[in-house]
Amino acid sequence: MASNSTWHGVVNMIIVNETVCREVFNRSDAFAAVEAVFASMASGGAYNFPVIREAIGHQDALYGFKSGFDRDGLVLGLKSGGYWPGNAANGLTNHQSTVFLFDPDSGQLEAIVGGNHLTALRTAAASAVSIAHLAREDAKVLGMVGAGHQSAFQLRAALEQREFEKVVGWNLHPEGLSRLAETCAEVNLPFESVERQNLAQQADVIISITSAHEALLMKDWIKPGTHLACMGTDTRGKQEVDAELVASAKLFTDEVTQSISIGEAQHAITAGLIDQESITPIGQVINGNHPGRGSDDEITLFDGTGVGLQDLAAAAAVVKMAVDQGKAQQITL
Ligand code: NAD
Repeated sequence: MASNSTWHGVVNMIIVNETVCREVFNRSDAFAAVEAVFASMASGGAYNFPVIREAIGHQDALYGFKSGFDRDGLVLGLKSGGYWPGNAANGLTNHQSTVFLFDPDSGQLEAIVGGNHLTALRTAAASAVSIAHLAREDAKVLGMVGAGHQSAFQLRAALEQREFEKVVGWNLHPEGLSRLAETCAEVNLPFESVERQNLAQQADVIISITSAHEALLMKDWIKPGTHLACMGTDTRGKQEVDAELVASAKLFTDEVTQSISIGEAQHAITAGLIDQESITPIGQVINGNHPGRGSDDEITLFDGTGVGLQDLAAAAAVVKMAVDQGKAQQITL
């Protein structure tokens, strides 16, 4: 991004709030930003810094930072925030975050961007990118495990990747599935609430997006040819699928370092079932350096841990669009 300061150090900073993010940034913008940054990560043009994520001992919250530098796109910054499980009861989303962008030439603060809508769209874009590149072309049934705030975003983005004819869903509290049923009704697709094993038996593509700490899907339940996008596990100790299932699948991720430490692969690694060489960054598939799915019978699994560069790519795109549309607030520091 261009330098934003004058010679005597006055900084012209941009603020894009959540409302403007919703107005200017859509699913296809998020898909393009995330696919491009995954490709840059795989070619070495962009890298993430180590994640900090801590239980703060207050409100049962997890708080931290995800940051990185995209040298190709000249985007530097961080997303600060986390997960407050009690928020929903107070009418707030449990995920709360804000993105800060800095001028890579000077280190000066360039923009503050609301991170909640961006997080939902960039996380949905990651699983959508995995479906676009790894799912069977003839996938017809989408399985959704989890029905929290992210789930409807995940569902909408996934439905754009294949000609799905039906959605099956499971949630810890079945009443929460109304969110997915309503989304399906809006797009005229049948929705069925099912048990987990039945979901696995029907689905050609499965997205898991929960806060679970134990396996919800077992290896023996999954049909040959299924693509799984495991999106909920983004912290040490969380888990959504059986480690044996991870070990038996062809594995892809946003970033290997995160996959083996805070992602779904952490359990298969700890159990000695896989090593990190068995996990391929999805950017290699996007760049054409890895074939991706090898056959119609193969089970593919995308371990979507959520990287800071996704947030930065989305935020940089939002800033540009908000400025172009005259919707960004500018302040001078
Ligand atoms: P949410 O609080 O709105 O919903 C949580 C979901 O998890 C609900 O479906 C709930 O029923 C389910 N759940 C909670 N405990 C469970 C358990 N023990 N077993 C099974 N299901 C359980 O949260 P959200 O905003 O929808 O986010 C869902 C998860 O996705 C969170 O854990 C969050 O950390 C993760 N997440 C990951 C990324 C990423 O980039 N990978 C991005 C955003 C959110």
